[in-house]
Amino acid sequence: MEFGFTDRQTAFRNEVKKFLDRELPSEYDLAVINPAEDRYRDDVWELQKSLARKFGEKGWLKLSWPAEYSGKDNDPFLYYILQEEIHYRGAPGWDGFTIGMLAPTLIRFGTEKQKEQHLVPIGKGEIFWCEGFSEPEAGSDLASIQTTAWEDGNNLIINGQKIWTSGAHRADWCFLLARTDPSSPKKHMGLSFLLLDMKTQGISVRQISDMGGGHNLCQVFFDDVKVSKDNILGQPNHGWEVAMVLLDFERGLDIGPISTMRRIYDILVNYARENDLLNNNSVRNRLIDIYIDVETATLLSYRAAWIASKRMTPTGEVSISKTFSYEAQKRAAGNAMTILGSYGQLTKGSELARLNGLIQRWYVETFAFTLFTGSSEIQRNIIATRALGLPRA
Ligand SMILES: Cc1cc2nc3c(=O)[nH]c(=O)nc-3n(C[C@H](O)[C@H](O)[C@H](O)COP(=O)(O)OP(=O)(O)OC[C@H]3O[C@@H](n4cnc5c(N)ncnc54)[C@H](O)[C@@H]3O)c2cc1C
Repeated sequence: MEFGFTDRQTAFRNEVKKFLDRELPSEYDLAVINPAEDRYRDDVWELQKSLARKFGEKGWLKLSWPAEYSGKDNDPFLYYILQEEIHYRGAPGWDGFTIGMLAPTLIRFGTEKQKEQHLVPIGKGEIFWCEGFSEPEAGSDLASIQTTAWEDGNNLIINGQKIWTSGAHRADWCFLLARTDPSSPKKHMGLSFLLLDMKTQGISVRQISDMGGGHNLCQVFFDDVKVSKDNILGQPNHGWEVAMVLLDFERGLDIGPISTMRRIYDILVNYARENDLLNNNSVRNRLIDIYIDVETATLLSYRAAWIASKRMTPTGEVSISKTFSYEAQKRAAGNAMTILGSYGQLTKGSELARLNGLIQRWYVETFAFTLFTGSSEIQRNIIATRALGLPRA
């Protein structure tokens, strides 16, 4: 059993660190803690776009793509290291929907024409995608989707609504699930996975304000939106299979937030040192609890990534890792709040706020972590059936 990184992996990590040292503005905002959501902010979006293009120039957005798509056919762990370093710095530039989820799904299911059209701009960091799965009546029970895409000659006409679509107001394209066959006997059948240009006539986007002060979650409405049948990814009416593969890729993206947790742990140790709190037993114990969570989450995530790097499917391991790490972040954010005492509740901008309101934002944000990409309860169902072989409840 080996736990070390190879020389190549270590060299790559150092290269990414140096790149971020050089490219991140010196006054970079400490309260940018969750690049996945914060990158959509007005004051971060330009940096998101320019860093994505620079990652593209370095070939980092297609690190492990097959050589035939101008990828480098590399060790998939390099993606992991890239995400770890980006999140450790709270840097934008990485787009999980586009790079982590859609690109590998396109490589698996896309026609040559679809790959040609989309992989080139994705690899250059030029376009961003959003994920149109959830609907008001279809969250955990995703197969209950009601958005329809009925056939009209060579086109499909989409009508319906999505909700919680992160970054839809910024996205160039959307991948979505819609019902294409009304006669299917089961609800997860008769769905198709569609690729949709967000500039298409009939799409409207409404931002939603959340409790963390963000406006990145959106409602997306489709009103007679026309899309060519060429934009179906995978087989028509078999979108569920495509979506399940994509969700496996999505759930494998947990190393980023774990790295954020490590960064906040380091910031808190520094804070405790500067405020003479390292001898305080309560503070020490909470720091140690956070550290145990960081280390355990990291190892579980590495294990899932290692299995994937051997071209095996780590479905159970990914769900174990996702469940543990997102619940650990909630715990850790609670511990961080206690370390800061009453100052923990102060928001960025308050003159008395400590650490620029970082902990308050993190604490509020972690509540969403056990919901997206399948809630903790749904992950437990997956672990029960796919990892432990238990019967469905
Ligand atoms: C920050 C954030 C970003 C998101 N971004 C996107 C996005 O970009 N695109 C997208 O499509 N969606 C997105 N989502 C939506 C997310 O995927 C859903 O919130 C999630 O699938 C849960 O669905 P729901 O909110 O409808 O809750 P529900 O499904 O209504 O669940 C409510 C509660 O009941 C529990 N529950 C439901 N069913 C079961 C069951 N069978 N067994 C046990 N417990 C159950 C759930 O765990 C949950 O606690 C995002 C959500 C958040 C919070």
